[in-house]
Amino acid sequence: MIVLKTDDEIELLRQANLLVGKTLAELAKIVEPGVTTNQLNRVAEEYIRDNGAVPTFKDFPNPYGNPFPAAICTSVNDAVVHGIPNNKPLKDGDIISIDCGTLLDGFCGDSCYTFCVGEVKPEIKKLLDVTKQSLYEGIEQSVIGHRIGDIGSAVQREAETNGYGVVRELVGHGIGKEMHEEPHVPNYGNCGTGEMLKNGMCIAIEPMITQYSRQICMNADKWTILTRDGGMAAHYEHTIAIRKSGPDILSSFEFLEDVLRRKRI
Ligand code: MG
Ligand code: MG
Repeated sequence: MIVLKTDDEIELLRQANLLVGKTLAELAKIVEPGVTTNQLNRVAEEYIRDNGAVPTFKDFPNPYGNPFPAAICTSVNDAVVHGIPNNKPLKDGDIISIDCGTLLDGFCGDSCYTFCVGEVKPEIKKLLDVTKQSLYEGIEQSVIGHRIGDIGSAVQREAETNGYGVVRELVGHGIGKEMHEEPHVPNYGNCGTGEMLKNGMCIAIEPMITQYSRQICMNADKWTILTRDGGMAAHYEHTIAIRKSGPDILSSFEFLEDVLRRKRI
C-alpha cells in the first residue's frame, strides 16, 4: 500500500532529510586521501545523534542474519552500494558513494552522493556527472499524473545514451515513517507504465550507474554490492515529495556542494 503524506508530514520528512544533507556536508569537509571510511562513519554517527536523530542504517537487518554494522554506507570505486566502513585509507583518484539515513521525529531521511577523493580521472568524473544528471532527469518526471515508469525511463535514457549500465537488482523506494515503503522506484522502465504518481507520494530516487556492464555481485561480507567486471559505479539519491506545485526535493546537496566549492578555492 502506498501511504500518501500530508503537508505536515512532508515538513517532518524534510527535516529528517535536511539533517542527512548536513551530515553529508560534514563528511565532505574530511573526504581526502588518507581518511578511512571508519573515520567518516564515526563523524556521521556522532553528528546524527547530536542532532537528536538515529542513524537508520545501523543494525539494519539482511536475510543472512548479519545486521549492517555502521551508520553510513561507504562504497568505494567498484562498490555500487552497501559498502561497510573499514580502516583502509582512501587514495587519491578514488570515488566514494556515501549513503546516509536518519530517523528524526518519526520520519526518515535517505540521500546519497558520490564524492571524488583528490584528483579523479576525467572519464570517471563523467560517470559521476551523468549519474547525478540522470537523478535530476528522473525528478523532472515526478509530477502528478505521470507514472513510475516515466521516472525509470528518464534515468535509464540519460545513463544508457552515455554508454553506462543501469543496475536492475536494486531500486529506489517510497519513504516516510519507514525507510522502505511502497512503491518500488526502478532506474529503468517504460514511459506510461507502473503506478500513477499522486499528490503526497514521497519517494527516494537513486540511480546506481556502472561504468561498463550493469552486472553486479555480492561481496563475501554479505553486504557490499560490487560491479562484476570491476568497473567503477556511482550512486546519487534524493528523497522527494510529489506535490501540486511539482517535485519537491526534501534532501539537499547544497550544503555539501558548498563545502566542495570552498575546498577548491
Ligand atoms: Mg540511501
Ligand atoms: Mg534509498
